Amino acid sequence: MTSAGLEKQTDTLTDGISRGIRRQIAGVGVAQLAQTYGTPLYVYDALMIRRRCRDLAAWDTIRFAQKACSNLAVLNLIRSEGVMVDAVSTGEIHRAEKAGYPTHAVLMQSSDGLPPVHPIVYTADIFDRDSLDVVAKLGLPVNCGSADMLEQLAARVPGAHVTLRVNPGFGHGHSQKTNTGGEGSKHGIWHEEIPDVLRRAEWAGLCVSGLHMHIGSGADLVHLAEVAEALERVAHEIGRSLTTISAGGGLPVPYKPNEVHADLGSYFSLWDATRKRLEERFGHRIRLEIEPGRYLTAEAGSVITEVRAIKRQGTKKYLLVDAGFNTLARPVLYGSWHPMSLCPEKESQNQTARGPAEEEIVEDVVVGGPLCESGDIFTQQEGGFVETRALPATSVGDYLVIETCGAYGFVMASNYNSKPLPAEVLIDDGQARLVRTRQTPDDLVRGETV
Ligand SMILES: *Cc1c(COP(=O)(O)O)cnc(C)c1O
Repeated sequence: MTSAGLEKQTDTLTDGISRGIRRQIAGVGVAQLAQTYGTPLYVYDALMIRRRCRDLAAWDTIRFAQKACSNLAVLNLIRSEGVMVDAVSTGEIHRAEKAGYPTHAVLMQSSDGLPPVHPIVYTADIFDRDSLDVVAKLGLPVNCGSADMLEQLAARVPGAHVTLRVNPGFGHGHSQKTNTGGEGSKHGIWHEEIPDVLRRAEWAGLCVSGLHMHIGSGADLVHLAEVAEALERVAHEIGRSLTTISAGGGLPVPYKPNEVHADLGSYFSLWDATRKRLEERFGHRIRLEIEPGRYLTAEAGSVITEVRAIKRQGTKKYLLVDAGFNTLARPVLYGSWHPMSLCPEKESQNQTARGPAEEEIVEDVVVGGPLCESGDIFTQQEGGFVETRALPATSVGDYLVIETCGAYGFVMASNYNSKPLPAEVLIDDGQARLVRTRQTPDDLVRGETV
């Protein structure tokens, strides 16, 4: 498979910092995208999303954690790949329905004795009042992260089937803020409470048919084996009512040049072995789910920004662009590192206006945004330490492409400083399509009164 958009003209220096000029995303010119749709702009490559969905074909169910990237066009694309969806709020249930997901269970082709699958599952540690209403009205299955949820659900939907989200007592997040297991995490039902919770579920008349652990396991297979073992122990406590197990999300993607994808084959084999042992023990088929967010969309997304000012502060050179942490919050929230490349403003003249020699001039720059806030820096480590990035020489009016932004990108964008939410574009088969318009000044004050 070839895709012009995947062949980035980026090379890597020995210090692991990438530099580069990037003129196209998924076969469409960066400058053309910026000039047609304005900046800052989110752009997604449909081919990359499809490829990532297909990577996980071995699993019985792939369930997209839509909080990573919930644009309707992206959800629709993912749905058309046979991928189910997870919703963590009423708003996400609404999005799933709008993107064409049915609210009732469906029998999958070639399901081979497996139980039918629910396209939409609600996962949370609480029901707010509106989500309990919607879940009850639509009869959606629920993945419960607290015992209180069980009783609240039982009061509204007697005999409901539920999945328990278990905190096995240990965790493994890529940042303190993304660790999803252990005492330091609010997520899931504590493993030692399971016998008590099962009694409460039975008392309330619920059927526990699913078991779920999402603890941010990353690429570490030793750790993953511990997670699978912990899940198996809890599965034994639940017993024969169990028909589905979920390995949760947490599949990593490479952000830095020296990072790699997880070994998907080993990842699957380990969980498949767990599933097979449970099938043998219970004497029926068990559906095996995976619930990726980041993995399906992160690499497909980029933010195109325009360089609006270049200045020196003492010894440091600053590149100020029109995207800030209102556009992409991961650097300020987690100190996340995103690849960056530059695109000269004038696509057609790029050969004459700028020779190859000039492209190789690499400067160490700090990249910041427009917000009145000193933390509005894209090149920062966790804790807010400002660092520099080696990038080709640039001028005001050029475009800076921030890459690997397709997960936890747009969905975390805000209106801080009364900046409009950016537009989103999906590129499929070389065709760019606007899938969300940029907010207008009136959008910013909608619902307010003087
Ligand atoms: C966020 C989340 C995921 C997805 O996590 P990724 O790290 O993006 O794969 C999966 N399941 C649940 C319950 C989540 O909250």
